[in-house]
Amino acid sequence: MSIRLPPGISQNTLDGALRAFESALGKEWVFSSEEDVALYRDAYSPLRDEPEERLASAAIAPSTVEEVQAVVRIANERRIPLYPISTGRNLGYGGAAPALSGSVVLDLKRMNRILDVSESNASALVEPGVSYFDLYRHIHERGLKVWLDPPDPGWGSLIGNALDRGGGQTAVQYRNHFDAHCGMEVVLADGDVLRTGMGALPNSESWQQFKTGFGPWVDGMFSQSNFGVVTKMGFWLMPQPEAYLSGRVVMYKHADLIPFVDIMNYLENASVFSGMTLLGSPLLGNDLPGALPDPPTPELAELLATPGGPQPAQLEAYCKKVGKGLWSGRFQFYGPREVIEAQWKYCKKRFSAIEGVSFEDGELLEMPLSAQELERRHTVIFGVPNLRIFTLMGRTENSTGMEGHVGFSPIIPRNGKAIYEAQKVFTEAAREFGLPLSPLNMPLTYWQRAFVYIFLFPVTRDVETNRRNREAFRKLVKICADHGWGEYRTPVAYQDDVMETYSFNNHALRRFHERLKDAVDPNGILSAGRYGIWPRYLREKKA
Ligand SMILES: Cc1cc2nc3c(=O)[nH]c(=O)nc-3n(C[C@H](O)[C@H](O)[C@H](O)COP(=O)(O)OP(=O)(O)OC[C@H]3O[C@@H](n4cnc5c(N)ncnc54)[C@H](O)[C@@H]3O)c2cc1C
Repeated sequence: MSIRLPPGISQNTLDGALRAFESALGKEWVFSSEEDVALYRDAYSPLRDEPEERLASAAIAPSTVEEVQAVVRIANERRIPLYPISTGRNLGYGGAAPALSGSVVLDLKRMNRILDVSESNASALVEPGVSYFDLYRHIHERGLKVWLDPPDPGWGSLIGNALDRGGGQTAVQYRNHFDAHCGMEVVLADGDVLRTGMGALPNSESWQQFKTGFGPWVDGMFSQSNFGVVTKMGFWLMPQPEAYLSGRVVMYKHADLIPFVDIMNYLENASVFSGMTLLGSPLLGNDLPGALPDPPTPELAELLATPGGPQPAQLEAYCKKVGKGLWSGRFQFYGPREVIEAQWKYCKKRFSAIEGVSFEDGELLEMPLSAQELERRHTVIFGVPNLRIFTLMGRTENSTGMEGHVGFSPIIPRNGKAIYEAQKVFTEAAREFGLPLSPLNMPLTYWQRAFVYIFLFPVTRDVETNRRNREAFRKLVKICADHGWGEYRTPVAYQDDVMETYSFNNHALRRFHERLKDAVDPNGILSAGRYGIWPRYLREKKA
């Protein structure tokens, strides 16, 4: 690996900037040796060891807002591109590596203060370096009765995850991490610092209580973008529920998904349940929290491999033969025992409208769970961060040559018809590109009102395999766009490809992003290229 220089910047200019960063931060917080900079490589990069791999030139680690202001001013004077990260654990979507090679990573891990946790408001105010583990420990040590909504790996940060619009698995109000934020502080490219929402009102005590403040609500501008460096963010937390209950609905007919999704949507939108619904097929046994699908039996594998996909009648006959359902939905409830028991009862009543459907009552658990009880469960649904996901997927799963993965994550409409169409499209794509997708694949329900599919494209150490997978990924982006499905988030290597598909009115959205970029960061020093937003000097170069 060799360190890259920023485009148009000489080694001398970079060295001069690094010396200025050293004066602002102290020598020990400026990293430029090959060994140190290698730590900011994306371990899951689909471009690994190729000339296009995104590599940093150096990294710097401020510890205060004033230091962040000082470094952006230095970068602005010398036109040095910076790439802010919080904890830099964005594996699957770009890791800690910059979107533009040669950028200096602005590593905010040292800014790891938990500024406030309020039990009565169920909220927290944190700096970028605060990880889910840090905040969990803080809450646990003080015995506060609030829960986090961690993503599967708990080592990342609340701020980095929310800014990339990540998701978790507890109650619906908290699963969309950007939506669950309340107020932020941002250092702009010229070193100015602003607070959003009620934070703009000096002496306000409701910064983490009222999101929108007064005037245009600008918070969204700072997620999946490159318009500022976020130095504080507030989050709403979930009050610790009294109990948890799950229940499963099993369906036997192919067509049942249509009424099922409509009823499920109504029940969720009417707040009859708040936990994340796990959709699956009993034939694959994949609707348990944190479970991977069972490998299909040889007979089922043959059926699923039918050219053009198995016919509904074939699937139904197979289900009858093995005595299993075809589709299932596992519902999860949080709240007082009396309430959640009544909610599940009501769900069963509504789903009984689907002929032949059957129900399984799941366990009712009183909170908090003991350490032993947690040990046996998928802990993120109980607000407890962990790293167990890496035993299921990622670098530990090496027998296949897979070193990691990147996420392909299209949003599709939340109705049964869209699931059938997606199953068909993805089965065809799987055949063409040799991906391990089953015709029974079901979408995920992280967010209300839309489904998301998440497929993991393997990343290997073999350059040729990675090239083939990149080509497949890009084709799939286009196939999805032709169906009106767009990705909600994508690895750095594909951000231009995905932005290209959001093309209404001759790319009016991208053109607007570019106008904003030119206005708030005219020298283009912040995260150039992130989410397909390039500063003017690099757009001109590309044209
Ligand atoms: C096996 C596996 C499972 C995963 N499961 C999930 C999951 O369940 N849910 C999920 O959401 N993700 C998941 N991920 C993806 C990823 O690991 C997490 O989202 C992780 O929390 C992101 O890392 P981070 O918090 O350190 O963010 P960072 O890497 O710090 O930030 C992400 C990006 O946001 C921008 N950014 C960060 N901080 C700032 C700032 N302060 N100012 C301006 N811009 C900033 C940067 O461009 C940065 O590259 C998974 C990954 C793997 C490998």
